[in-house]
Amino acid sequence: MKTKRAVWKVWNPMTETIHAALKNLESQLGDNGLDVNAAFLLLEHITEKSRASLLADLREPLTVRQAEQFEQLRAELLTGKPVQHIIGEEWFYGRAFTVSKDVLIPRPETEELVQGALQRATRLFNDKSIRVADIGTGSGAIAITFQLEREESQVTATDISEAALVVARRNAERNGAKLTFLQGDLAQPLMNEKWDIILSNPPYIGMEEAPSMSSTVVDYEPHNALFAEEGGLALYQKLAETLPPIMNKPSLICLEIGYLQGSGVKQMFKQAFPNATIEVVQDMNGKDRMIFCEIQ
Ligand code: GLN
Repeated sequence: MKTKRAVWKVWNPMTETIHAALKNLESQLGDNGLDVNAAFLLLEHITEKSRASLLADLREPLTVRQAEQFEQLRAELLTGKPVQHIIGEEWFYGRAFTVSKDVLIPRPETEELVQGALQRATRLFNDKSIRVADIGTGSGAIAITFQLEREESQVTATDISEAALVVARRNAERNGAKLTFLQGDLAQPLMNEKWDIILSNPPYIGMEEAPSMSSTVVDYEPHNALFAEEGGLALYQKLAETLPPIMNKPSLICLEIGYLQGSGVKQMFKQAFPNATIEVVQDMNGKDRMIFCEIQ
């Protein structure tokens, strides 16, 4: 019996523990200037374990199938491919969203935009039924989360990209949200109605920043969701010009912005809505990241 076990051990290809795989991949990612957090996410995916049970089982070996899958996906990850594209999803506000090359991968900063919008919605509208639109919805993360967190809302989500709307519709279904989807450029599909809340995380990175950005972003995420003209400010200018006639009173515009764009975007909206109260709000990293424009 003892001998048999020893032989089995020698022949067993499953010698690598989850812990060894994790540490090894983390250091490779670090050496290549890539995000080391991807290692944990990849191993959660391969082992089909939650983070908690993965941590509890760190000393367990990977199965042969898992080890093979690990080798293959590790190679993909080391090319710079986002781990979310390998796994096919990202978590946002406690829910899983399908992602693909057609949509921006939802970011944690954007959860703060949704949270800020929800808080202000309660203050301004209590539990009244309100009409909300998310412009440039991408994966649908903002619109779907808002609808699920505040059910007294009729939410419309727009995008210029049909391919993005396919992903957003799938995410609405996956998460059980009821939304209206419209295809078109910025506010154009919304012009025939009035709105209580406009949400948007438009592309806001200046083209000139591309060379200094991570290849995981520039080579894999859609450029029409990342970059805008005028140093990234072009779409805020268009929104400031087109939104005034379609906003109710009171109403609220909630925008994600680049960390250097606070005063520029504030000025544009002050001009478009002279009586509005405009706040520039920082994200968890202490960077200007959101603008809330309250129209009375
Ligand atoms: N926050 C994103 C990034 O850093 C950019 C998102 C956007 O342009 N709306 O890549």
